[in-house]
Amino acid sequence: MKREVRVKNIVIGGGANISIQSMTNTKTSDAKATIEQIEKLSTCGCDLVRVSVPDEVSLSALPQILKESRIPVIGDFHYSLKLAVKSAKLGIHKVRINPANIGSKENLRDLIKVCNEHNTAIRIGVNSGSIHSEYKHLPVAEALAKSAYDYSKMFEDEGFSSLVLSVKSSDVLTTIKANQLLDKMSDCPLHLGVTEAGTFENGIIKSSLGIGSLLQQGIGDTIRVSLTTSDLTDEVRVAKKILHSLGLKKNMVDVVCCPTCARTCIEVQKLAELVENATAHIEKNLKIAVMGCIVNGIGESEDAELGIAGGRDKSVIISKGQILETVDNEKLVECFMTHLNQLIQLK
Ligand code: SF4
Repeated sequence: MKREVRVKNIVIGGGANISIQSMTNTKTSDAKATIEQIEKLSTCGCDLVRVSVPDEVSLSALPQILKESRIPVIGDFHYSLKLAVKSAKLGIHKVRINPANIGSKENLRDLIKVCNEHNTAIRIGVNSGSIHSEYKHLPVAEALAKSAYDYSKMFEDEGFSSLVLSVKSSDVLTTIKANQLLDKMSDCPLHLGVTEAGTFENGIIKSSLGIGSLLQQGIGDTIRVSLTTSDLTDEVRVAKKILHSLGLKKNMVDVVCCPTCARTCIEVQKLAELVENATAHIEKNLKIAVMGCIVNGIGESEDAELGIAGGRDKSVIISKGQILETVDNEKLVECFMTHLNQLIQLK
């Protein structure tokens, strides 16, 4: 088991639940906009949020952000460990650094001293740009893992152990291999993610495969799905679905739907999206089925607590393979939502 690292009220490692992270894309200096985005992410199920702190103006917004955020805030720092030190003094809950940009050992000692004094955790994030020069001849996955391990030893030798490690690549197989190797080397909890995973479709596929296969092997303690999308909460929704699909997250509504075919009588996609949106924030273990026809729909959704099986003029609302009600298609959404709300109240 990995060592336990506390980040405010969230525990990473030590057998704790896998936590979900995301990152704001507002200007951190705009505290109001950043807080609004954090609130949105938090409502969606984000456990920890990362904000970039590139300059003093961003730093000056941190006290308000830290005061108003409901979830732990992680500062992302590049090149200026001085900003990281100042953020830790302000009470930031975790610091993420790229070890290639640490600078002198003196800077490192300053950071460790302040983080120890303020119980601030540190994530060492290694990517292809921060591979140790002595490992450059090795396969990338091995070089990433060895570099991350060496950096962690550097911190430990200076008396700091509240460490989370990450080794990321935009290549799925490299990410998997690097984490497998690092998992064997270190007892530091691992932050999983496929970096620069891409736009919605590519990002979901790469993240699901990379993060999902590692989690399935019991590797990983906290995750971030990296997506280039207009709605940041997509990252959190996808992360929750990855965890739920692997049985690592309970209390979530699972909406299943058929792929449609010539028998389809209703607008399956539209209905399924409506149900997904209506249930996205509900923390209950429920399976809801939206099926395009009565012929197969009822039998195939026998394990769903609630479902729809479409008919040409009338559709049926079902539960565990039993018909609850037959309704005109014009009233289908309204009736279904009534049943759904009743079920949620009961559960
Ligand atoms: S449930 Fe019915 S409509 Fe949907 S794919 Fe199966 S047969 Fe086709």
